[in-house]
Parts: sequence; structure tokens; C-alpha cells
Amino acid sequence: MHAPSHPPIGLYVHVPFCASKCAYCDFASYAGREADIPRYVDAVIREIVRRGAETGHPRADTVFLGGGTPSLLDERQITRILDALHGAFPIEEGAEITCECNPGTLTARLAHALRKAGVNRLSIGAQARQARLLRLLGRIHDWQGVVASVETARQAGFDNINLDLMFGLPSQSVLDFRETLQAAIALSPTHLSCYGLIVEEGTPLCRDIAEGKLALPDEEAEREMYELARHTLAADGFDQYEISNFARPGHACRHNLGCWTRVPYLGFGCAAHSFFEQCRTMNPSRIDAYLAGDEPKTERISREEARFESMMLGLRLTRGVKNEDFADMHGMSIREAFGEKLDALINGGLLQWHEGALRLTRLGMDLQNSVLVELM
Ligand code: SF4
Repeated sequence: MHAPSHPPIGLYVHVPFCASKCAYCDFASYAGREADIPRYVDAVIREIVRRGAETGHPRADTVFLGGGTPSLLDERQITRILDALHGAFPIEEGAEITCECNPGTLTARLAHALRKAGVNRLSIGAQARQARLLRLLGRIHDWQGVVASVETARQAGFDNINLDLMFGLPSQSVLDFRETLQAAIALSPTHLSCYGLIVEEGTPLCRDIAEGKLALPDEEAEREMYELARHTLAADGFDQYEISNFARPGHACRHNLGCWTRVPYLGFGCAAHSFFEQCRTMNPSRIDAYLAGDEPKTERISREEARFESMMLGLRLTRGVKNEDFADMHGMSIREAFGEKLDALINGGLLQWHEGALRLTRLGMDLQNSVLVELM
């Protein structure tokens, strides 16, 4: 049993359906499989009920419906999933309940139903202001679709809205990205995520780049875009609390903060992961394997891995890893865990102590992988 005195956990539901497959996407998502949605929703609900009983119905204070495109489900399907979560896990009053959605899939009817079902945060995949960039990414919407989704969300009563933006896109100039940032700010979101494009092997975008049909901006331009996001958003009152995430005061994503600080969470659906009682569980990544009832893989995390994980995840946060929290979780200080490795990284200007926490310097943010390799 998960004792009631334990801090609340997070809940994640993966919805792997999309209206079409974006050119850069290697996530577990499928276009053209809408016919499987009812069967998938039933399977997810069975998993929620089973895992609730297995884990002793722990309390939760964040819920995240991610994908894929959860807004492709109809209101009844989403409400059934949320009802199942409420039935299996006591969800606290004031919990953060997020639903991802894509422009073009958020109808007024669905937005009202989500609000009625307790969803209080929407995350909208906006990506870029320019139609030509959205086209080459294989997105199905234009910026007008983003504006319409934000309006639909507001009319349904949502005041906590994230927009996802991308930079480092083929043919994207710094000026393009400036326009995107300004257009996004003009929509008054409470949160912005700015992700640098990662070109994944085997995607159509990767092929087009390899064949010379598309060209990425150089490293310097990409870095300039990232700095532009940091400065523009800071000047507008956003707090950068994580490498890629910016929030108005009080609007950092609590669900993701929980993941980065090793708060336990349970994930449902294909490709969903869980972290619970020092074990990581990975559901089958392919929808057919999940629907066929293939078993998840579970591995116990050793104490040493747990200490490294705290650094790997916590150093993503601009506040860094608090020594006190680290000691509470692992029974030893950061210095005791990493010893001399820390000195080399601090002397090299990659890490610094600040208000009782160890955090990446600006240079360390650029070289985060090297820092982690050193700590490993
Ligand atoms: S909407 Fe998101 S999950 Fe779906 S194909 Fe595009 S990038 Fe992938």
C-alpha cells in the first residue's frame, strides 16, 4: 500500500493518435488509426483500474493527458478516462490537470467538456508563426489555427495555457523566430515551451536534410534563437525555470516539475513510463503490442542510479538541485555522492553553487551532456 502520508504522485495518460504524422516526429503516435480509439480507451481504463488497485490507490495532485493528440478523442472518451483516474486515485482538490491539444482539433464542444471534466490547463502545439515552416514540419495547421484554439480555450474558461514553440528549424531565420515569439506573447499564454529541433533518424525530415533538400540553421544561429527566447521572455515577465520552459509567476508546469524532481508518477497507455517505489516501468511502445496485452518492462533503480538521476533531471531546472532535497532523498549530500568530480566541473565553470543548490552555469547549459557524462 502507498501510505496516505506519502506525498501525492503524478498521473500520465498517453494518447497515441494524431490527425497526420509530422515530418520530424518519432514519438509513439499514429495517423489513420482512429478506428482503434474506442478499443484503446477501454484498454487504458482497464490499466488505470488495475494499477490503482496494485499500487494501493495513492493520492495524485497532477494529471497530464499527453500524446499524440489527446484532443482527437471525443468528449465522452476523455471524460471516461478522467473518471477512471478519479475512481482509481484520489485526485486532490486544486490538482493541475493538463490536456495537450493541437490546433485544428480543439472544438468549442470539446473545450467545454474538458473544462467540465476538471481539466484546468491546456498545452497547445503551436510551433511556428510562418506557414512555410509549419508546412515543412508537416503540421496540419497555420497560425490562425493557433489563435483560434487559444480563443476557443479562453471562451471555455481556460486561463492556464501553454504554447509549444520550436526553433532551429530548416530555413528558419532568427527573425522568423523573433516573429514567432512575438506572436506567441501576443496571445498571453501563461507558459511557453521552446524546444530546439532534434532531427530523429528515420523521419522524413531527416531524409530531406540528408538529401540536401532542406538545410538546418548553423549552430550559431540556433544558439542566437535560444538566447533570443531567454531574453525576450525574461523581458516580458516570464521566468525560465527549466532549460526549455518559461512560465508566468505561479504557472510552472507542476507535473513536469514533479518528473524532474523524482516525484513518483504512474503512466498509462502505450509507451507510457512509470516511476514508483524506486522502479521504472515501461509499457510496450507500440500500440499493437499494448492492445495485445504485452507485459510492461520493470527495472529496479539502484541507489547509485537514483543519485545520478536526481542530477540528470534536476540540473535541467534553472534553480538546480537543492542539497537539502538531495540529502533527504538519498541520505547523503551532493558532495558526498559526487566528491571530486564536482570540483572539476565547478572549476571548469560548468556548475555553481547558488542558495544551497547546485546548478548549471550558462556555459554548463550548453554543455549539459558533458556535465552528465562527468558525473556518471
Ligand atoms: S502532433 Fe505531435 S505527436 Fe502527433 S505526429 Fe505531430 S509531433 Fe508527433
